[in-house]
Amino acid sequence: MKINTQDFRVREGARVRLKRLPTRVKPFYSSDEDYKAALADHIHGLTTRQSLLYAHNRYSLLLIFQAMDAAGKDGAIKHVMSGVNPQGCQVYSFKHPSAEELAHDFLWRTTRCLPERGRIGIFNRSYYEEVLVVKVHPEILAGQSIPAESLSDKKFWEKRYRSINDLEKHLYRNGTRVLKFFLHLSKEEQRKRFLKRIEDPVRNWKFSRFDLAERGFWKEYQGAYEECLSETSTEQAPWFVVPADDKLNARLIISQVVLNALKDLKMSYPAPDKTRLKELLAMKKRLAK
Ligand code: ATP
Ligand code: MG
Repeated sequence: MKINTQDFRVREGARVRLKRLPTRVKPFYSSDEDYKAALADHIHGLTTRQSLLYAHNRYSLLLIFQAMDAAGKDGAIKHVMSGVNPQGCQVYSFKHPSAEELAHDFLWRTTRCLPERGRIGIFNRSYYEEVLVVKVHPEILAGQSIPAESLSDKKFWEKRYRSINDLEKHLYRNGTRVLKFFLHLSKEEQRKRFLKRIEDPVRNWKFSRFDLAERGFWKEYQGAYEECLSETSTEQAPWFVVPADDKLNARLIISQVVLNALKDLKMSYPAPDKTRLKELLAMKKRLAK
């Protein structure tokens, strides 16, 4: 079934209302087998194009995953990137910042992890936490040693969005394509998944009391996400709001978006010039002896 990824893309300047966007859509697969075949097809396309990305060595791809707990970030990353050559792919998970990280500006820790040319970088959480969890819990800002005049600036958050947009535009100009995924989960589906994590011993480790505490701030998070998505979805670095109540469907949508982005890049395998061709021919002759 054809996936029109534009249906999930946040247009630049659009005001996002998450309640109006679905957490579940009609599945793009008709059975488990059909899902596996469709995902395998996407993965095949991804691996072929990843080799080209690597050889061409001009562009890189940065995939950012943000979501409420239990929305399926880890599973999406694992399944979508499963066929990709590990040498061409780097995954970073960003948790609570360390003391060293807090001693720098808020873009420092992630900037160090940006993908090299020819690579795919994946951020499991990212600098977007700085306008999400930090906005929901502004007391975190106290630990960031920010100068008083910046902290009291009425446009503090607006300026954080601007810093992010500026960074992503800079990356675009320099060959990094940024794609951002918000896994849109319903509160009810999160409740079910949390319960599963408590009931299933194999999943117990995935659940902490902090997850439950953050669920108490659901409304605040949805508000922070709405503003963030509205302010930072741009032509160069779009957000996709991916319905996440059905994990399989979410994986198909995400892999399709990534595949399309790779297809849009004009790339080719480096062709040898005349001198190089001569050299190759000479080496062939020597080997043939
Ligand atoms: P999982 O639960 O699937 O293992 P996770 O991404 O939720 O993955 P956790 O260790 O549970 O990982 O949580 C990481 C926590 O770190 C989140 O609550 C997140 O909001 C927080 N965090 C990430 N970046 C920042 C930041 N810059 N400032 C403050 N908190 C942050
Ligand atoms: Mg967690």
